[in-house]
Formats: sequence, C-alpha cells, structure tokens
Amino acid sequence: MYTLDTILPHIGSRKSHLTSPHATFSALAYDTRKIRIGKDSLFFALVQQRDGHRYIEEAYAKGVRNFVISDNDFDISPYIDANFVWVENALRALQQLAAYHRNHFSIPVIGITGSNGKTIVKTWLHQLLAPEYNCYQSPKSYNSQLGVALSLWNLTKEHNLALIEAGISKVGEMDALQDIIRPTLGILTGIGPAHQEGFDSEKQKIGEKLKLFKEVKTVVVPSAALSSASFIDSNYITWGDQQTDNLRLLKVQKDKETTILMLRYGALEYAMTVPFIDKASIDNVLTCTLVMLTLGYEMEVIRKRIAWLRPLEMRLQLKKGKHNSNIIDDTYSNDLASLQIALDFLEQQNQSPVKKLVLSDFEGEEWTPSSIIRLAQLLNVQSLSQVILVGNRLTSLQQHLVAPSLLFESTDKLIDSLEQLDLKDSVLLLKGGRRFELERLSRLLVEKSHDTVLEINLKALENNLSQYRSCLKKGVRMMTMVKAFSYGSGSFEIANMLQFSKVDYLTVAFVDEGAELRRGGISLPIMVLSPHKSTFDDILLYRLEPEIYSLRILKAFVAFLKEREMEAYPIHLKLDTGMHRLGFMEGEIEEALAIIAAHTQLRVATVFSHLAGAGNEELKDFSTQQIALFKRMSNQVETTLGYTVIKHICNTSGIVHHPEAHFDMVRLGIGAYGFDMAPNSLSLQEVGSLKTTITQIKELSAGETVGYDRKGVLQRHSRIATVKIGYADGYDRRLGNGVGKMAINNSLVPTVGNICMDMCMLDVTDIVAREGDEVLVFPDIYQSAKNIGTIPYELLTGISSRVKRVYFYE
Ligand SMILES: *Cc1c(COP(=O)(O)O)cnc(C)c1O
Repeated sequence: MYTLDTILPHIGSRKSHLTSPHATFSALAYDTRKIRIGKDSLFFALVQQRDGHRYIEEAYAKGVRNFVISDNDFDISPYIDANFVWVENALRALQQLAAYHRNHFSIPVIGITGSNGKTIVKTWLHQLLAPEYNCYQSPKSYNSQLGVALSLWNLTKEHNLALIEAGISKVGEMDALQDIIRPTLGILTGIGPAHQEGFDSEKQKIGEKLKLFKEVKTVVVPSAALSSASFIDSNYITWGDQQTDNLRLLKVQKDKETTILMLRYGALEYAMTVPFIDKASIDNVLTCTLVMLTLGYEMEVIRKRIAWLRPLEMRLQLKKGKHNSNIIDDTYSNDLASLQIALDFLEQQNQSPVKKLVLSDFEGEEWTPSSIIRLAQLLNVQSLSQVILVGNRLTSLQQHLVAPSLLFESTDKLIDSLEQLDLKDSVLLLKGGRRFELERLSRLLVEKSHDTVLEINLKALENNLSQYRSCLKKGVRMMTMVKAFSYGSGSFEIANMLQFSKVDYLTVAFVDEGAELRRGGISLPIMVLSPHKSTFDDILLYRLEPEIYSLRILKAFVAFLKEREMEAYPIHLKLDTGMHRLGFMEGEIEEALAIIAAHTQLRVATVFSHLAGAGNEELKDFSTQQIALFKRMSNQVETTLGYTVIKHICNTSGIVHHPEAHFDMVRLGIGAYGFDMAPNSLSLQEVGSLKTTITQIKELSAGETVGYDRKGVLQRHSRIATVKIGYADGYDRRLGNGVGKMAINNSLVPTVGNICMDMCMLDVTDIVAREGDEVLVFPDIYQSAKNIGTIPYELLTGISSRVKRVYFYE
C-alpha cells in the first residue's frame, strides 16, 4: 500500500492536482474492464492503440479517484474529488512505479529471457526451488513492457526470491525492462528464430537480450547461443557440449519416455534421468540444473527433483463440459497473480450467469490473516455462485466469503463427492497448484473428445484485433464477422472475446447463428446477412438486425414490423456497387428510400457495400470506382432520409489497402483469425491450429500399396503413419496422394494414398515419429489451399463441427 504523495517524485510527475494527497492505493489499473476495487486503484491512462484518457469517466464511475495522465488539455473539472498527476508518458510512469516498488526488496531476483522456453524454465524453477524458497513468479507470460511492470508490482515481503520473465520484440525495449527488473542472476534460455522481424540480425537480437544482464554478476547461458556471435563474457556460466562449458553434456541416451544425460560438472561426472525425450525440454532441464548448481544445490537433490518434472499444459483452457457446463481449466499453478488472470477470464464468460470456482491451496504461500482477507476480497468482487476449496490451509477463508463455500481435504475427496455437486449449466473455473492434480477433475468433467481438435488461441484473436485497430483513425468503428461459425473457430466463445474487446458490431450469415450468440449471452448488436422472410420472428425475438438488400425483402420487412407494431427497428442497407451479389443498384435506391422514409417502423442504422477485389492490386481502379459510387449512393441515403447513418465498405484486405475508404466503420473478417490474403505489414497470429495424433505406424516394403483403390504405391521400404483425420472432418480429399503435407515434430510429411472418411495415411519414413505423436494438420494453410486450387477461407470453414474446439488464452 502506497500513498500518492510518496510516489510522486518517483514517477516523473510534471504537475499534479491533489484533492487528497495522502490517498492510498494498492492496485494498478489501466483497463477499466479489469478494475475490481476502484477506490483502491491508481489508474494509468496509457496511450496505446486506444487512448486511456477516454476511459477515465468509466474508471471514475467504478470508484477510481487516483489518475496518472499525460494529456495537458484533459478536462478534469467533472471529477471534483479525484487526484490527477500529469506525466510525460503514462506507461513509463507505471514502469517507474514498479521499479520503485522493486527497489524495496533485497531478495535474489532471477531475470529470464531468450527466444524459447522462458515460461517453462520459470515455472519449473518455481517448482524445483519451492521446498526452500517462497518464490514469486511473474504470471503466465507477462513479459512485455507492461506485463513486467505489473508482475513486479505483485511482489510482497513474504517472498524471498523472484523469477521474472522478460520478452522483447524490437531494439531498445530491453533497457527499459532491465531498469525495472534489476536482476541479480540472469538466465538466457536459448536463441531461436522467434521475433526476428524487429532486429537486423541474429547478432543484434542476442546483444539486445543480453542487455538485461548488464549489472548481473552471474548469467546462465547455453554456449550454443553465444558461439555464433562472440559474446563471451567472464560473468557467463555456460552449459553445452563444449570442453569449456561449466556444465558439460557428455552423452545423451534416449529411451522410450525418458532420456539419460551424462553430465560433467567440476571434476565429477553424473548420470541424470530426465522424464522427457524432446530436445527443447532437455535444454530447459539443463538450464534449470545449472541455475540450481549456481544457487548451491547438491547434484543429488537436483537429480531427484528433475525426475518430478512433467510437461506442463500451461495454458488456461476453455472446454465444453458435461451437462451444458463450460470448464476453464487452469490447473498447473496457483498464486494470486495467475488467479487474478483466471478470474478475469471467468468474468468474460457470458454463456451462463452461474459461475463457480474450485480453488486449491496455494503452493508455498504463507497465509497471514490480512493476506487471507485480501484473497477473500478478490473473490468477493466476483459474482460467484459457489466456491469449492481443496486442501485445508484455506479453512479460515470460508468465513470471509460472500458466496457459499465447501471445503474438501483433497482432490480425491472432492472427486468422491462429485455426484452431489450441482455443476450443470455453469461456468466452472478450476484453479489449483500442480500438487493437487485438479486436471484429474477436469478430465472427469469435460466431454470425451476424439483425438482431432481445433485449438483456438483467444489471445491471438485479441492480438489480431488490435493489429487492425492500429490501422484505423480515431472514431472509426469495427464490425467483426463471426459468420460460418466464426470462420470455423466457434461461436459464443469467440464472440465473448470480441465483446470483451469492445468491437462495435458482430455479423452472422444466418438467423440461427445469431440466436446461438444471444443464448450464449452476447449483447452486442448483431447484423444478419441475407435473412429470409420465414426468420423475421426470430430476428425480433433475438434482437437481430437484418441486412436489407432488395425491394422485395424491404417491403416484406416493413409489413412485418407494421403487424408487430414496432418502431424505428434498426436495419442495414446493402448497396451493390459492383460485386453484383446482393444489394440495391443505383437505379433502385430512390424507390427503396421512398419506402423507408414513409415508414417510421424502421430506421437505417448503417449503409454498406462490399468490394469485389479489395486486396487485389490489379483491381485497384475497380475498387476506387466502387468506393466513389458508394460515396455517391450513401450520400443520397443520408440526404433523402435526413439523418446520418454509419457507412462502411472495407473488409479485411480493404482495411489495409484502402485506408481512404474506412468511412465510419470497417468489417473485419478473416484477418481477425490471423489471415490476410493481401500483403501487409501487420503481425498477425493464426488463431486456430488443427491437430490430430498418430494412431498406428506400419513398416511396409517397396511395391506395397496404401489405402483405397491401391492409389498409394510405395517406391521404397516405408514407414506409414495412420492419423485420425479424414474428409468427414474437413480434410479435403484432394489433399491425398502427396498433395497435402502435415507436420510431425516440426518436420513436414506428405499424405500417401487417398484420404479416407475418418483417417488418412502419412509417409514418415524420413523422420522421427512414434504412435501417439501430435500432428499439425495445416502447417501452411496458404500452401495447402493453393495446392488444391482454393483459398484458406474454404479450408477453415470446412473443418467439421465434429472436430472439438478447445479454447485457450495465453
Ligand atoms: C464475409 C464478409 C466480410 C469479411 O470479409 P473478409 O475478407 O473475411 O474480411 C465483409 N463483408 C461482408 C458483406 C462479408 O460477407
């Protein structure tokens, strides 16, 4: 808890307006949607893709009275009882405040950076060191400029070691992070190709990362990361297979599920059994081992603890549960910071008002009466219908909880009583430390899946939205297309995230898609493309807004609204400017407007058109003509009706290629899911990854054939893997006989023979592959689409509904 006046000198304040200088706060806020206890928060108006000053009013309404802002002209007069502090840059001020907080601690702070493995190394070290240290670890992958600052803010005096992850994507960022973290021990996990775009060379990237360690005496690094760039420094202790490495890897012996490493440290040699076989995990184990040796651990202890490690399913996942429930599975760690993130995610779910929490004891947390009350407050501001506690260290929490609660001594006891708990129709958050193995509970509650899943990364969706938002001028709205089951990605799960991210409109193709969103708790306005007369009842029932594209449908809708005695019902007027699909042609618009003007039953909310070749350079002139015609026709609409309407014409490629045509709104479609057919400089992330597994592997001789009609003729002795995906899942039959390629353990392998209904076969002769291995079905969806003469849209929307969707947020 700090008071405002004490922190002012530390955050670069230029001026301030303080009505109560001694106001205290303990939470940092920058996103109004995540404010819990307003009066306890200091709000930073960050100027990023959106201008935080625009949210001050909302933050104030949520009880916030302390603000850090940068806009000199911001009118503070409506907020008479609030404190305002002006700084040059609010993000920088937040970072400086975090640095000030961090400087109150003289505990070891381990700074972790590198291209891969940061989060795993952090989480493993947390587990490996837990018996001796009450470690603080930065939550999830909070490793950005903002994330690191927020992480450090959660450090308390109960912690005696901190593990902080730092990630950068361009030159200059690490200096700021070094300033806040000030690590006392450094870890570089490894250097790979990730995030290369922001750097001129590999050498520059490594140099930037190493800046985190400029004041550190000891840095643990793999020598392989340094060899390419002569960074050798006397502070570095290295692991690798070189003579000079401090921890030297002499031999690697792989078994079916474990690997035996022969190691030399100092004068002695050791054998260590590692419960993994993949190289990335082995690298991470070596990093952890050398860190523990550096901290003074005996090899004997390290060996025992390494054997405990398990691969982490670290991502928070949203899955369909039995009995119409939804399960948020976040069962690999438990600490206050990651609980907060999981609760935020729970809050975003609208599919049921009944929200329940299963919470295990925290690992390593020392509870004091005041920290118990803090935890209770965190839970009480959430609208929970029930809290189920596991373990017995949180007994005293129960009396402080508003929601009814139950306590079970162990996960087994909870599982025994599962029948008596009423979990149907609820959204259930499972949050527990590894020791409690709540994933066993998750397995019981989640619907059985078959082995093929489409993983949906909601964080990537959020990223893509903000990428496209950064192309828009202030005030331009965003409509997001969720038609065709959100391009194959899902329904309310996607819409929840879009609603949370404050898009302005959603669009579906059919009324029943819109109805499903409403039943899933989505309250945003929803436009329906080309509705049929027979669905007008449902349009009204679910408050959907129809696209009106012809005189016939206009007249029918007017008659319907009259009968229902509706007034000013919102409609969307579709103009045909050259696509020649649906919409009013220029010659028809006058008659349509006459009808609309004569009927108060409806009101034009938006008027729009669609470009036939928005991303196609060769069609630029045609697009320009379409835009000009749209301008003319939409002006006519406004002049005739006598009110302004929202005008929009750009789809995904149009957003980038026709910035002059954004008008009042854009319609983001495939770009939200991470694809843009036209060249662009945005950093998009693919939202869906379709995955399956190898069911069986066979050794077959040259001349044998594989699959129906003996189409797959083997030219050599081959290993053939059968995987559980076929054309009924949406894996197009034209991808058979080597046209399609999938990825196993990062290697591409071709299909062999015809694609079957539920399965297909791959040639894995040239790679390492085992039964049970994961298979990425579309490693390059652009290429797959091209090979069969289609476009990614068709492959994405073709993934069948029997393929289970699993959502995660990381
Ligand atoms: C599907 C659709 C879009 C989105 O197109 P993308 O190319 O996916 O961005 C926009 N407008 C209309 C009318 C659509 O039907």
